[in-house]
Amino acid sequence: MNSLDKHFSQKLQELQNAELLRHIRNYDDSLVDFASNDYLGLLGDQRIKNASIDAINKYGVGAGASRLITGNSALYDDLEDVISNYYGKEGGCVFSSGYAANLGAISALVGRGDLIIADKLSHACIIDGAQLSGAKFMRFRHNDYEHLEKLLLDHRSDYNKCLVITESIFSMDGDRADIKLLNEIAHKYNAWSYVDYAHDIETEKYVNTEAQPDIVMGTFSKGFASLGGYVCASDIVINYLKSKSKTLIYSTALPPSVLASSIESVKIVKTEKYRSQKALNNAGYFCNKMGLDAPESQIVPVILGDENKVISIRSEVENNGIIISAIRPPTVPKDTSRLRVSFSYNHNESQIDDLIKILKNIL
Ligand code: PMP
Repeated sequence: MNSLDKHFSQKLQELQNAELLRHIRNYDDSLVDFASNDYLGLLGDQRIKNASIDAINKYGVGAGASRLITGNSALYDDLEDVISNYYGKEGGCVFSSGYAANLGAISALVGRGDLIIADKLSHACIIDGAQLSGAKFMRFRHNDYEHLEKLLLDHRSDYNKCLVITESIFSMDGDRADIKLLNEIAHKYNAWSYVDYAHDIETEKYVNTEAQPDIVMGTFSKGFASLGGYVCASDIVINYLKSKSKTLIYSTALPPSVLASSIESVKIVKTEKYRSQKALNNAGYFCNKMGLDAPESQIVPVILGDENKVISIRSEVENNGIIISAIRPPTVPKDTSRLRVSFSYNHNESQIDDLIKILKNIL
């Protein structure tokens, strides 16, 4: 074995020993899916498929270059108009993924001599963006705004600019941040608020309210059933990001078909509000029957603690025809391994009853 393979076979063994080896699998379509992020049931929507096919026929399959070279198209302008309008912001900037949006935007907005304070449970791409920026990076305890204020009080004056970051719905806990309060605290200390709405299917509720942050970030890959990330803010901030975000400048633009899917999807989500309501009702129905607290979103964690237990329960549920996620460290803190159940517009009560029956038998 050469040294490269020898080194990584040892590394693989270490992961295996720590039970951290991941397996990328294919799933059988006949399974009932309580694991994906297709919250609004739009993955197979014929209108979105048609928009995508029309764009392929009109523009071809790939973008051919980055946006600043020749990869841009009128579809980017349309999508940025539609998404900034959705959030009541002046401008929008579309990136190739939500990961690229956070990485590129956060690292462009602040830098050396500045401060970032983010919720402790922030997604990996927020943390990577913060680290890449070169700014001092601190974290406040999850949804603990007194701790956020204490950090600002103690440290804000030592730095130039300051960005306060949270997710609106936490992807592994399904709980909601208090964005109105976070805004108040951030502004009191002359800091800017930045909120990741990736998993929020009720965002429109907060448009043009005090619960709207300075900078909105999100992704088309979950509720919108497409691909790509976005940042929405004032035109000035967006123009700056388009000149400075490396993940936008140095990466090939999205295919036109993907942009067209996202445009169609945002239009559908705006008009068919009953989709998010049904996903939320489904989560409420499940929690009620399972004897869990009322959910704050369509994501419900069942925290069991033990890593092996969540893996074995996930397999048993799958043997009964249903997929749920088993989430372990390092995605979540040690001893908080959990089943993550995500509800969608597509689920019906009988499917949820089946899941409840299986879980009640095992747990
Ligand atoms: N932010 C959050 C909170 C996420 O959960 C994710 C994806 N899991 C992302 C950003 C990245 O989005 P994308 O999958 O579009 O890269």
